Amino acid sequence: MSRYTGPSCRLCRREGMKLYLKGDRCYSDKCAITRRNYAPGQHGQGRKKVTEYGLQLREKQKVRRIYGINESQMVKYFKMADKMKGITGENLLKLLELRFDNVVYRMGFASSRAEARQLVTHGHFLLNGKKANIPSMLLSVGDVIAIKEKSRSSEKIKDLIENHDGNTVQWIKVDLDKYEGTIVAEPTREDIDIPIEEHLIVELYSK
Ligand code: SF4
Repeated sequence: MSRYTGPSCRLCRREGMKLYLKGDRCYSDKCAITRRNYAPGQHGQGRKKVTEYGLQLREKQKVRRIYGINESQMVKYFKMADKMKGITGENLLKLLELRFDNVVYRMGFASSRAEARQLVTHGHFLLNGKKANIPSMLLSVGDVIAIKEKSRSSEKIKDLIENHDGNTVQWIKVDLDKYEGTIVAEPTREDIDIPIEEHLIVELYSK
């Protein structure tokens, strides 16, 4: 299944919430959700009765859109999460958080997950000192992600580092002087600040 390449803001409007897909713009008053918070299209402003299936589907779509993954990847993560110990919905979010592109975003080395994906694909990072350019790689505790020396002089990277406030999520420790971050713990549900009811996704895929 191919990746959605249309306007990102349309996805937020479809879900009726900010999915933070466009970096700085999402925090400005240019955000489409601030300006036009109704679904896109001719019937976007009409009221619709939402079925239980519809709720589950929307919740799954929100997660897919937030992390920028396609349906077959989502099914794969669900199957992995289901086999893991613990609560399946939380396991699913944990796996998504541990994707290479998401970790780069959480480190504050990209302003959106889409930008993180692009930076990873373009080979700007080292993983434990070695070249790595696959955004979907799942990382683990102890992994060190560093910006390549050659990439540190690029305008985009310089800008990101200069504007980095040093804050990041609890499970990643960032060292701006070394242009790197280390995963120091697995993310817990409390660490994942997205307003998602993951049990609805589990119900959807368990049918
Ligand atoms: Fe979504 Fe960001 Fe566009 Fe707002 S600016 S609608 S949060 S992608």
